[in-house]
Amino acid sequence: MHVDMGARVEFKSLKGAVSPEEWQLREEMAACFRLIEHFGFNGTINNHMSARVPGEPDHFLINPGGYLFSELCASSLVKVHMDGRILSHAPSGIVNPAGYVIHSAIMSGRPDVNCAIHLHTVPGVAVSTQKDGLRFYCQESMRFYGKIGFHEYEGISRDTEEREGIIRDLADNMILLLRNHGTIVVGGSVADAFTYTVNFERSCEIQMMAERTGAEVIIPSPEMCEQTRKQTLPRDNRPAGAKAWQAYRRIADAYYPSYLN
Ligand SMILES: [Zn+2]
Repeated sequence: MHVDMGARVEFKSLKGAVSPEEWQLREEMAACFRLIEHFGFNGTINNHMSARVPGEPDHFLINPGGYLFSELCASSLVKVHMDGRILSHAPSGIVNPAGYVIHSAIMSGRPDVNCAIHLHTVPGVAVSTQKDGLRFYCQESMRFYGKIGFHEYEGISRDTEEREGIIRDLADNMILLLRNHGTIVVGGSVADAFTYTVNFERSCEIQMMAERTGAEVIIPSPEMCEQTRKQTLPRDNRPAGAKAWQAYRRIADAYYPSYLN
């Protein structure tokens, strides 16, 4: 059953009050928040996603504190400066402090990244606790081969001093496994970050399932994993997730139309 939770929450409309580019990003992010819930990757108010505003490299949008992803719409998102200033109205008056620390680190440290998704799914956290992290059991996982960093647990990320460590550990990876805490997936666009998230979450679920049986697992060679990773790289300058994203957006359009508010 699909319930459009966002239809029950009202936010002051920002349509027409922000640039067309920012509004388009707001719609994409709002669709992404709904899809993360749709795929069962969230369910709490403690996760966050950010995306850089086009043409404004020091500004990013993030979800307001206190709301479920299923309640968010384009107008609900908060615009934040890299230095922590809140530039647009925050419906709940707050931005999750850990959200600001994590996302400002990523956006300032990785100019090529325009979207970052931070989640605490059961399979993702489980893999973050395993010494080797993600193992490359399935095709979906191989696009991340050699592109996963680790960040040791340092308590709840409220301290801006943790930013340097996050930047260092993310390095040029696609994923940062926050030990005993959660995951961060980054991409050049909302489309890329979401499609990577789907691939990554499935990979973690498959790892948990495969290891649960105790049966011996066949793992492709490092050479095969690397070859497969290269096959998944974007071609013709098209964002990696562009085609899948169009299909995913149709789910949001059909079931959760209030995301466009
Ligand atoms: Zn977290």
